[in-house]
Amino acid sequence: MTQYPHLLAPLDLGFTTLKNRVVMGSMHTGLEETGDWNRVAEFYATRARGGVALMVTGGMAPNPEGGVFPGAAGLYTDQDIANHRIVTSRVHDAGGKIAMQILHAGRYAYSAKCVAPSAIKSPISPFPPHELDEEGIEKQISDIVTAARRAREAGYDGVEVMGSEGYFLNQFLVTHTNKRTDRWGGSYENRMRLPVEVVRRVREAVGADFIVIYRLSMIDLIPEGSTWDEVVQLARAVEAAGASIINTGIGWHEARIPTIATSVPRRAFAWVTKKLMGKVAIPVITSNRINTPDVAESVLAEGCADMVSMARPFLADPDFVAKAAAGKAAEIAPCIACNQACLDHTFSGKLSSCLVNPRACHETELTITTAETPKRIAVVGAGPAGLAASLTAAARGHNVTLFDKASQIGGQLNLAKQVPGKEEFWGLVDYYQTMVAKAGITLALETVATADDLAGFDTVIIATGVVPRDPVIPGQDGPNVVSYIDVLRGDVQVGQKVAIIGAGGIGFDVAEYLVTDHSPTDHLPDWLQEWGVGDPAEARGGLRSQGPQPGAPARQVTLLQRKAEKLGKRLGKTTGWIHRAGLQMKNVQMIGGVNYDKIDATGLHISQGETRSNPSVIAADTIVLCAGQLPERRLADQLIAAGQAVHVIGGADVAAELDAKRAIDQGTRVAASL
Ligand code: NAP
Ligand code: SF4
Repeated sequence: MTQYPHLLAPLDLGFTTLKNRVVMGSMHTGLEETGDWNRVAEFYATRARGGVALMVTGGMAPNPEGGVFPGAAGLYTDQDIANHRIVTSRVHDAGGKIAMQILHAGRYAYSAKCVAPSAIKSPISPFPPHELDEEGIEKQISDIVTAARRAREAGYDGVEVMGSEGYFLNQFLVTHTNKRTDRWGGSYENRMRLPVEVVRRVREAVGADFIVIYRLSMIDLIPEGSTWDEVVQLARAVEAAGASIINTGIGWHEARIPTIATSVPRRAFAWVTKKLMGKVAIPVITSNRINTPDVAESVLAEGCADMVSMARPFLADPDFVAKAAAGKAAEIAPCIACNQACLDHTFSGKLSSCLVNPRACHETELTITTAETPKRIAVVGAGPAGLAASLTAAARGHNVTLFDKASQIGGQLNLAKQVPGKEEFWGLVDYYQTMVAKAGITLALETVATADDLAGFDTVIIATGVVPRDPVIPGQDGPNVVSYIDVLRGDVQVGQKVAIIGAGGIGFDVAEYLVTDHSPTDHLPDWLQEWGVGDPAEARGGLRSQGPQPGAPARQVTLLQRKAEKLGKRLGKTTGWIHRAGLQMKNVQMIGGVNYDKIDATGLHISQGETRSNPSVIAADTIVLCAGQLPERRLADQLIAAGQAVHVIGGADVAAELDAKRAIDQGTRVAASL
């Protein structure tokens, strides 16, 4: 008897059956644009082998003006169709099904050629769109229909028509972006004419035995967004026009409410999809922040949806479904919703991957093979770099001993998990614990490894991490000065007025920790209230009229840095704004361009710029040092001086801008090469 009866139940669509209730949602990985179709095929086939019922590709442009960026992949030529056939046949051979997403970006297209219902520039694009005339609208419909027909020719099992997240079809639906007065604008019947017409003509073109998913924005999270009645009206019209499945879209890309970041509670929007259940007869998919089989099962068991869509969790672990079905859920590498290697890469024009799984999108390049000669390998440091190296080495058949001076594995992950909004790190450490035990790695905890301890090993990997940088501020030895480590470990009392020195990732995390009594990530109603999200049946677009209502800050915090730039500028590309907005809501004062002149009992003395102008005192009971890190290389240097060959990885190698992404990637690659 499985623990996941709802998740693993097949779904009969009439003309075809999906083997379980799990959809891998669309992600733009950048793989298609590499032109290496074997690599694209291996990415999807790996996930098909892992048991997911249906995958949706990254968005394919129906025409150049609709591409998210110039040169975005589309299905234009016979050669394109032949390339996509490599993918679909490999997926079918692996027992999977795959639908192609057709994504017309409308005014979100990063191009001067972009088109939209009305010539209104989006706040997240520099390009004002061209308003389409009747002929232009007909061209867009016809190009989308052609893309669907070509998808069928290329062997896809279906298409997903992207109608949410504020893209082209969504732009017609709301008066926020559609100011037209012709038959494509004005009344809701007119505004929804385009999406419905697209679905009707796509169905006509592809025939009855082809999956047509319509991705429908159920809560726009923007001013002048759709009302709930409009959402239901559209869902029914799309069903009548021939859609086989309705998928859930949450929030426009320009919305100022986080929808998938790690601080968003798990299954935060399943209640929105649930409202549509029973309103249409076709299956409904829910999505957003569903990342474990337990969460997915609960969503289905509670009748929130007929299927669940997870996207990033399949980067973290392609075998998610197979492991759940085999009763091995604890062995699923969890997506921690950090966006660091997936969306942040996409928005920087880089190929996607995954922080916890560097093999994602690198399946053909980063291979983990059985070692010809098993070695005795010592790894010193059980943080992310050391853990990745140990697990990879063990998977290759090496005999691994993992040393750490702490009483538990995880290194700085154990600090991160204390931060409100970063609760996902608990699951990541649990996963590593499970896998270290399963891999038969010998753990030497509470052990400061010495050169003698390491003498008998064939290979030594040093992953000793980092030590805090000394900012050398007069008075920093006073009783009112503490390190971020003491704070996040809960080892010190922190006063009501706090100054934080350093506004990198850790400075922001510590500020969040100090202003938050109870993490709203653990309590959905609080989180919805904090960000001003309401029931779309009561508030248009799901925006509460009161706006965001954050809880009172637990302390008065000032966050400082020496650079004169905006604080948090270097945080994650897709998540930095959330950290900044979160702290602003808690009245954290952010000051840049400062000199730290001294610390005394009255607080932190600062001045501005090279001329040391405007001297002032930040009255603070506690001053927290978050001034960055330096490599902890003492052991590595000692071994190297003694002539021993060592591999130095993670923060012990380079501390600057170290994060778990680089640490895990480097640990995996070093161990893959031994
Ligand atoms: P960091 O990002 O390098 O920031 C260090 C901070 O200390 C900066 O604000 C820097 O600003 C300041 N600083 C540097 N030298 C200083 C000095 N001598 N005296 C006073 N201040 C000094 O390092 P971190 O905050 O320790 O974070 C470490 C790494 O962990 C980061 O690279 C980050 O990637 C990762 N991390 C990421 C997240 C995340 O949310 N993704 C969260 C936590 C940590 P000024 O030089 O302008 O003063
Ligand atoms: Fe999830 Fe982070 Fe991996 Fe992206 S990089 S898939 S958010 S764990």
